[in-house]
Amino acid sequence: MDVRVMKAKQWRARCLACGKEFSYADGFECDAQPGRHTLDPREYYHLGAGHIQSIRDRRMFTPTLNLISGLEIRDKVTGEITRMESLIVHFKEGGKYETTDPLEQYHLDLHPGVMTGQAGREAWDKMYLTQDQQLTKAQTQLADIQKQIRENNALLDLTKKGKDGVALR
Ligand SMILES: [Zn+2]
Repeated sequence: MDVRVMKAKQWRARCLACGKEFSYADGFECDAQPGRHTLDPREYYHLGAGHIQSIRDRRMFTPTLNLISGLEIRDKVTGEITRMESLIVHFKEGGKYETTDPLEQYHLDLHPGVMTGQAGREAWDKMYLTQDQQLTKAQTQLADIQKQIRENNALLDLTKKGKDGVALR
């Protein structure tokens, strides 16, 4: 099966306002508030800046995605016109966009070249950070991990001493 079709079928989310878990088929209308459900904010990364040579210029990349094209459909029999609302998102500098809207999240989750979460963040780093910035980031992360290990060891020492102290009494 097409990955996109599979993702679309598996897509589920939980609303912060009404607590309901829903899929695309359930629709996005919320019972607890006017309009659509509200989701946890999610950041999306647009990975289409590869054509911009200078990585520093990529940080100025503000793409727009047309997720749903607005359409007017005229009923052949009645002549009645149904308008379909368009859905356009504007990414901020560096191709980042955050949203709590389920319709936007649904379409962004399925959109090729758009990623989210940890994998998205890592892909973003590769595309938008210079080698130096990536190196600095890796070094900072390593320093954080080393600090955490030292703290854990110190805590372990304290626990051991505590136990010995009890045993001696
Ligand atoms: Zn809701």
